[in-house]
Amino acid sequence: MANQFVLPDLGYAFNALEPVIDARTMEIHHDKHHGAYVTNLNKALESAPEFFEKPIEDILRNIQSVPESIRTAVRNHGGGHANHTLFWKVIAPGGAKEPSGALAKELESAFGSFDAFVEKFSSVSVAHFGSGWGWLVLDGEGKLQGYSLPNQDSPYMQGHTPILGLDVWEHAYYLNYQNRRADYVKAFWQIVNWTQVEENFRNAK
Ligand code: MN
Repeated sequence: MANQFVLPDLGYAFNALEPVIDARTMEIHHDKHHGAYVTNLNKALESAPEFFEKPIEDILRNIQSVPESIRTAVRNHGGGHANHTLFWKVIAPGGAKEPSGALAKELESAFGSFDAFVEKFSSVSVAHFGSGWGWLVLDGEGKLQGYSLPNQDSPYMQGHTPILGLDVWEHAYYLNYQNRRADYVKAFWQIVNWTQVEENFRNAK
């Protein structure tokens, strides 16, 4: 059996993001939810082990090349694996508290101002119906876009590269915020690691 996908370490303590995200939520979210996406992705790919050789981003970019019998499972669990792997990094403690340099300029030119970007990203994340993610992506033309996607759908599946993501599944916030998704989205900006987001932006370019 080729190398299976592995749940990455969180890289910091479960309580490192308190009070914005509580330790219990982080533990369940990383160990159980992300863990299950990895387990189920590996299970789905048992019948097509050649995909274990590819980075998950490449598999999602070329989702149509995954056999139809397992495509939905790979979309859901592979998407879940890629999305959460990015999420833990962009909310990692430390790093810059606001964007600078090329990313700051691009955010201004794409959205009008940094505040207008925050407003747009927040409103699509709050308004997203049901489970999904808010995304800042670099599109196929190299332009920044903000939008939401349902479930674990990945921006890679539409030829975009995710720069910043916000998990708005209830499992991401329910213990602390219950039905108050807007409060969770508002608090999220306190924990964004802009050093990591800028690195994602540079790598996507
Ligand atoms: Mn999640």
